[in-house]
Amino acid sequence: MSSSTSYSSSQTRRVTVGIPTRCWCGSTLTTFGSKTKENLFRRFYRCEIGVRRQNEDHLFKWIDEAIIDEINMVDAKVSKLQADLGSFMKSTSDLFDKQENYMDGAINDIKNLLQQQTNLTNQTIQSSGPEKAKSNILNIATAAVVFGTMAFIYAKLTN
Ligand SMILES: [Zn+2]
Repeated sequence: MSSSTSYSSSQTRRVTVGIPTRCWCGSTLTTFGSKTKENLFRRFYRCEIGVRRQNEDHLFKWIDEAIIDEINMVDAKVSKLQADLGSFMKSTSDLFDKQENYMDGAINDIKNLLQQQTNLTNQTIQSSGPEKAKSNILNIATAAVVFGTMAFIYAKLTN
């Protein structure tokens, strides 16, 4: 249903999407009812000058088509918003997954380090007496503090 072509071929040169506010000539638009047989009483936008000077190039737009344009534009905006929200949620959940993996890895590293320290201390106690073992116990205490801090950060991030 191409209506602008039935009005005049010169009107199709410029396309106005949605509800127009002003004519290209700067005049405010008025709504008129069509008097042609094929569009009888169908409403359209036109400026006063355009109505008086039919041979000049002024804005012409059917009101029903302008309203359909507006609805389509809102639909497109809603679709875009939905897509944006979807990708935002995806990237946020990916980020949390990454952070969780990283924290799990870090905690495992610390656990391994603690295990190594414990093994080393046990070996030291067995081989070189209690004096050397003291410094290793200090290392374990430091590692325990680090581990505690990491666990605290991890709990903060995941809750
Ligand atoms: Zn005009």
